[in-house]
Amino acid sequence: MRAITSLTPIRRAAVIGSGVMGAGIAAHLANAGLQVLLLDVPPDSLTASELQSGWNLDDPKVRNRLAAGSLARLAVQQPPALYEASFLQRITPGNLADDLHRLREVDWIVEAVIERLDVKRQVLTLIESVRREDTLVSTNTSGLSVAAMAEGRGEAFRKHFVATHFFNPPRHMKLVELVAGPDTDPGVLARLTNICEKQLAKGVVVAKDTPNFIANRIGSYGMLVTIEAMRKYGLTVDEVDALTGPAMGRPKTATFRMLDMIGLDTLLHVIDNVRERSQDAAEREAFARPPELEVLVERKWLGEKTGQGFYRKIKRIGGGSDIETLNLQTMTYEPRRSVGSPIIEASKAAKGAGAKLKALLFTDTNDRYANFAWSTIKDILLYSARQLGVIADTTQDIDRAMVWGFNWELGPFELWDALGVKRSVQRMQAEGDTVPEWVEAWLAAGNSSFYKTEGERRFYTYRGEYVEQEVAPEHLSLGSMKEAGKKILGNSGATLIDIGGEVACLEFHSPNNAIGGDILAAIRQSADEVSLNWRGLVIANEGRHFCVGANLMMLLMEAQNGDFDDIDDIIRLFQDSMLKLKRLDRPVVAAPHKMTLGGGVEACLPADCIVFSAETYYGLVETGVGLIPAGGGCKEAAALAAERAGAGGDVLPQLIPLFETIAMAKTSTSGFDVKRIGLMRTQDRAIIRGESRIAEAKRAVLELDRWGYSPPSSAARIRVAGREGRAVLQLAVEAMRLGGQISDHDVRIARKLAHVLAGGDAPAGAEVSEQYLLDLEREAFLSLCGESLTQARMRHLLATGKPLRN
Ligand code: NAD
Repeated sequence: MRAITSLTPIRRAAVIGSGVMGAGIAAHLANAGLQVLLLDVPPDSLTASELQSGWNLDDPKVRNRLAAGSLARLAVQQPPALYEASFLQRITPGNLADDLHRLREVDWIVEAVIERLDVKRQVLTLIESVRREDTLVSTNTSGLSVAAMAEGRGEAFRKHFVATHFFNPPRHMKLVELVAGPDTDPGVLARLTNICEKQLAKGVVVAKDTPNFIANRIGSYGMLVTIEAMRKYGLTVDEVDALTGPAMGRPKTATFRMLDMIGLDTLLHVIDNVRERSQDAAEREAFARPPELEVLVERKWLGEKTGQGFYRKIKRIGGGSDIETLNLQTMTYEPRRSVGSPIIEASKAAKGAGAKLKALLFTDTNDRYANFAWSTIKDILLYSARQLGVIADTTQDIDRAMVWGFNWELGPFELWDALGVKRSVQRMQAEGDTVPEWVEAWLAAGNSSFYKTEGERRFYTYRGEYVEQEVAPEHLSLGSMKEAGKKILGNSGATLIDIGGEVACLEFHSPNNAIGGDILAAIRQSADEVSLNWRGLVIANEGRHFCVGANLMMLLMEAQNGDFDDIDDIIRLFQDSMLKLKRLDRPVVAAPHKMTLGGGVEACLPADCIVFSAETYYGLVETGVGLIPAGGGCKEAAALAAERAGAGGDVLPQLIPLFETIAMAKTSTSGFDVKRIGLMRTQDRAIIRGESRIAEAKRAVLELDRWGYSPPSSAARIRVAGREGRAVLQLAVEAMRLGGQISDHDVRIARKLAHVLAGGDAPAGAEVSEQYLLDLEREAFLSLCGESLTQARMRHLLATGKPLRN
């Protein structure tokens, strides 16, 4: 038997408590490929429908009701907690009475029952009675004392016990706070760190065993000082949310929309926990319950879970809905007001979280909004500085907790750096605030920021010293490589970078990474360069999204002006550039992430292999703007159908699902889910750790190169479904029209799509060239560009970000 080290992965886990968090954690463990046992309590009474079915309390269906019910909800949950629907089979439901002994089979037990110390302690006693000597045990508490939970348990248990605080929803929130108890073995903490980071692709921050740990402690304090400042400056709920969202580098949910999502009672619970357990009188005072919240909680206006809180949604007669905001003076709901002011506009116009906040604070320091913003930010910065050493050891831990757990763009110390530490400390002192001694000492020692960079190295602050940030070897950072002078060539839209091992990476960096003439030029230049001097090419970037498609604005302008020759030229250029990538005599691997749509998909399809990050939303969505894919997307779909049909096989059955995918603009809900929409090719794969996608893609390039690479033949022919296939597809389109599912314009687009995918007028089974299909694509695309309804779809998408059905 292999000895267990901190690098030993786990294969089987159990989650106890199948509520919101338990189910979400179980789903994410299943995403990571683990077999999961999900247990809850057996019910003590029957439901009406169970009674009607003649079941009794001994029936396994009844005894497993809670966990099985959670699985049923997971299966339909939107957005999905699972990367792929079939992963649900990795979770086995059960109950704590009948299946307790099965906890011996697992490597890790996660307790996720209700937030009550007595209940958690009971469950941990049960776990201890059956666990193996080496089983890891963790509690998913939001902020109860880990030491109090470990009390009374045996030594072996205490050594293997920690808190793993996942954030909701566990699939999407990167943060896991790891909190050791008094006797936790450091090896256990290291092993769980590795499991969370490597197997689950989470970001781990080690927190101390203090009330609410890091993110909830600072986050809830931030909400309290915001409510206080709101009172002081006489602002409305709408005004506060306009100021505390993206203007401060935080999510759009800002303060009150976020509170409505969390639940106002939950916030009260969180702040009570600090007030009751803090040793610091000033802190206990700061964590007093705001009277506004108490009133709302008394009225059961708890937020989304009770249908109203600071906001409520009102159904409009005739469909649709409106959002109303609570007026805290009158306690009545009023129409939501949009908030504008010169400093908000200045903040909107600024790029990057630091610049946005500076614009908000410093454009006009006499502005009421600016004073409100400064007051809340100042309080959060000072509180974070006071908590350093208390709730976490390093500036990096506090910042990461806020960035990964609350989706802030910058953590408090990063924000402080962006504002200028010296300047803001002077202002705080001038306003009579006490700045923690360590900050004053830090400045007095000649430092001017909490972070610093030297070339590719980044340092954070720990006990009055700069400490170098560790970078995992599998995290290749294009930004750092560019800074270190590894740029090979490039233009305003894309850069080719030397990523080591004689592999180059083409990085898109246009606005939204939309593909225009600059990126296409860079693709062609890169292909020439890689052919001459490199072992292969990776196509990947570190943008918010891999690529949202072709530059639609440019296309719309040309279509409106009737410049169809120009459109023809750019589409040809797109197609030729993709073909050049496909024919490149070096291996090409694409590594998309997040939104990868339309032209973004087409930029991946010429690659020999695609490495999908788990969080990739991938789809040929051109029909949404009244078009069809014309950068090789249709041609590649037709080729995929022919390949799947095999020599002599019938192409049409393989083509139908791909036709549906493109006609209905289907998008994957994850990298794994690309399989469901038919666009995963045999050589492609999905990985859970999106951060290592560039390293993975580089490895794949080197592997292809090592085995001796030759590109696909330019003489290859594609067998098509032909006229007969087209007729079948078009008939299906007509049926959908008759059923009222699609509009006349949808029919027009889908008929053209069918024509291209089936190979135009070629007979069934004919073998056509790639260029023949590309010409069909381009022709159909051009004719659709001239349609006014297509132009209306493009305009609408550009204006609203949403597709128009017309
Ligand atoms: P929940 O109410 O949705 O689920 C709690 C589950 O525990 C239920 O399925 C319940 O049947 C089960 N349970 C109750 N008593 C039990 C017992 N004696 N034995 C076994 N199971 C029992 O709660 P939740 O939101 O999933 O929270 C679970 C834990 O996660 C809490 O400690 C909470 O503080 C923490 N947490 C919650 C969130 C969040 O956003 N909801 C985020 C992070 C952490």
